[in-house]
This record gives sequence, C-alpha cells and structure tokens, in this order.
Amino acid sequence: MTALKESPRDPAQARLDLVLPAGEGWTHEIAAGETFRIVDLEGNQAADTLFFNSRDFDERYSAMETIRAQGNIYLTTGTTLMSSEGRPLLEIVADTCGRHDTLGGACSAESNQVRYALEKKYMHNCRDSFLLALARAGRGMTKRDLPSNINFFMNVPVTPAGALTFEDGVSGPGRYVEMRAETHVLVLISNCPQLNNPCNGYNPTPVRLLVWRAG
Ligand SMILES: [Zn+2]
Repeated sequence: MTALKESPRDPAQARLDLVLPAGEGWTHEIAAGETFRIVDLEGNQAADTLFFNSRDFDERYSAMETIRAQGNIYLTTGTTLMSSEGRPLLEIVADTCGRHDTLGGACSAESNQVRYALEKKYMHNCRDSFLLALARAGRGMTKRDLPSNINFFMNVPVTPAGALTFEDGVSGPGRYVEMRAETHVLVLISNCPQLNNPCNGYNPTPVRLLVWRAG
C-alpha cells in the first residue's frame, strides 16, 4: 500500500514551524482539528513518534489497533492512527514518502547492545530520548508509558517468511507526512540518533515540524 498525496497547506500559515536537530527529543500539544506535518529535511531520517490523548495519557497510540483497523502493516495517506481504547487519534491526510513503519519499535540501550555490540550500549538511543523529553516536559510518564511507536520515514519491510528487515530508506530530502488530529493529542518524538543500521542512512539528520490551526 502506497498512497502518495501532497498537501495544500502553506508553511507560512503554520502556527508552529521549527527544526528538530538529529538525535533530539520533543513534545508538543496539538488540538483537535489541527494539522501536524513532519518533514524529512535531508532524507532517510527515522522520526520515532508516539501520541497520547492529552486529556488522559493512559489512552495512547496503539500499533495493534491501527494495523487491525486498516488491515495493513504500513502507514500512509488514509491511515487512521488508533488509540489503545480503539478510538481515532489522528488521520494521515498527506504523504509524499508513501510508507511508514510501526513494527520496528524504538532503538534502546538494550537493543544497541544485543543487535550491534556490547560497547554500543551507551550510544544515544530513541528510548532514552523519549524519556528525557517526557521528563523535561514534566509529564509524569516513565518507561512503562512507552508503547510500540511509529517510525515515520523508516523502511522496515516484512519478508514473505515473516521476518523484519531494516532497509535503506524509501524517503528523500523534503518528503513529508501530514496528519490531522481527531482529538487533543500530546506528540512525543525522538529524532532517531541511531548510527548502526541504515534507518538514518548511518547519518542522523534534522526534521522540520509544523502545526496549522484548525480550519
Ligand atoms: Zn532510534
């Protein structure tokens, strides 16, 4: 499933427009009806992302509910990002990349050690970036509040035998994904610092984040 679609929205009209450096974490509240865009500025950058209902953090993004609702493991235009309560959080309304992963999970100290080498344990990783961003925002959430995430722009094809493979990206400079919030959400991003697999082209780069008001 690939559904390329461009957005009519003008960045000059956005209420928020910032660049998140490679390897950084970020949180932000997006109101129902607002539109959120992530731009892969230089290409081949994985943006590890989670969403929470900002009125009740116990309700959060669910990869399982999202896959079940659409009967497809990849995310693109038309995908509804579902919550752990089976309700829509956001809908992807534009996508110039075409495919995003929600199976590969976030890199962590543990996965760095198991997948790559013992001494890679202390390298920067998305799980720590998520936790640091949540702590800085004073959200009172910890490790147990991190469900399986979305990896925007990351290419993790499932083979016919059912294996997961981390492949070179299908994204490119300037490609973006855009979603409309169906409820008030808190977005949490780790702009992946991973250097040991091709999800970032072995070179983590910045992403641009924009939010437009409703209507
Ligand atoms: Zn990562």
